[in-house]
Amino acid sequence: MDFISKKDFRSLVEGLIKEYTLYGPIKKDGSPAFGRIDGFGQLKLSSTPSHISAKGFLFPPKETLLRFDIEKGSAEGVVTAEDQAIIGLNSCDVHAINLLDRVFAYGTPDANYLARRKKTLIIGTECLPDEYCFCDSIGTMTVEEGFDVFLHKLRGGFIARTGSKRGRSLIKKYASARKATKEEIAGLKGLAEKKKKLFKTTLDAEASSLPLIYAGADLSPVWDRIGAICYGCGSCNNVCPTCYCFDVKDDVTMDLKKAERVRVWDACTLEDFAKVSGGYNFRKTRADQLRHRFNRKFRYLADRFKGLFCVGCGRCSRTCLVRINIAEVTNEIVRESKKR
Ligand code: SF4
Ligand code: SF4
Repeated sequence: MDFISKKDFRSLVEGLIKEYTLYGPIKKDGSPAFGRIDGFGQLKLSSTPSHISAKGFLFPPKETLLRFDIEKGSAEGVVTAEDQAIIGLNSCDVHAINLLDRVFAYGTPDANYLARRKKTLIIGTECLPDEYCFCDSIGTMTVEEGFDVFLHKLRGGFIARTGSKRGRSLIKKYASARKATKEEIAGLKGLAEKKKKLFKTTLDAEASSLPLIYAGADLSPVWDRIGAICYGCGSCNNVCPTCYCFDVKDDVTMDLKKAERVRVWDACTLEDFAKVSGGYNFRKTRADQLRHRFNRKFRYLADRFKGLFCVGCGRCSRTCLVRINIAEVTNEIVRESKKR
C-alpha cells in the first residue's frame, strides 16, 4: 500500500484529465452525481453514494449497435469505446461493475460493453454509509478486485491500493508515493471498524441465505402491499448499478434507405416490460413486477453469476417516491420466513 499526499492526488487527477476522458462525482442540483471532469476543481469527492450510479459510462442508456444500408442490403456493427477513467466509485459500485463484467461476458460476449470496459480505468474511493446503505450486510463494504486504484482518505492524503498494472504505472507517473507506514495501515483497519458501526440499515439474515429465503416468499402478502403503492415509474431500475436489462429497436429513416439498431435501457417495473406479441402481459400487476425485481436481485441470478445482484448501495430506496425500501422489504420477508 502507498501513501499519496493531497498535492499528489491533485497531480493524479490532472494526469487522468490529460490522458483520459475523466468522469467523477460533481455537484448537480445539490446531490452528488457523476459527470465529465475537465478541471480538478470540478471533482467533488463525496462520502455518500451518488444519486444515479456510474453504469451508464460502460453501458449507455442508449447506444447504436448496428447501421443498415437498406438499399445495398448491408449492415455494419458499431462499437464505440474511448479511453476513459471513472473516479469516485465506492466499493459497492466496483462490486456492481464486477457483476456487469460477468453478465456481459456470459454466453455471447457483448462486444460493445467489453470494448468499453477494456478501455476504462476504475479509481475507487472510500465512502461512509447514509441511512439507506446496507453494503455491510451484503458483503460489499470492502473490495479486493475490479479497480485499478482504490483510495482511502487519511489525514494529509490518501492510502492508495493498486489493483492492476495500469493503476501501478499511473501512481508511479503522477504521484511521488511512498510506502504507507504500519501506523497508516493500522489506521485504515480502524476506519473500517468505525465505518461498520455507522450503518443504520442492516439485513436480518446472512446474505448467503437470501436466495433460499426469497424462494419461499412467492406468496408473501408483501408483494400486494408494495404493489398497491408502486407507481411503476422504473426509477429504481434506472439508478441501480446492477440492473442491465435493455430493449432493442430499429430506427428507420423516412425514405426507408437507412436504419440503425439501437438498444435502450429497459426496466422490469415498467408496465410493458413483459408484454409479448398479441398484447399478452405475463407480469401484468405491479405486485408481480416488484416480486420479479426483488427476486432478480436476491435469487434468480445468484446461481448463474455467483453473487447477489444487490450490492446494498440503497439507491433504489433513496430514489423511490413512495418509499419502497429494499432493505425493509427484505427484512419483512426474512421475518415471515422465520414463522414458516
Ligand atoms: S421507484 Fe418506487 S414507485 Fe418507482 S417503480 Fe420503483 S418501487 Fe415503484
Ligand atoms: S437493488 Fe437497490 S440497493 Fe441493491 S444494488 Fe440496486 S439500487 Fe442498490
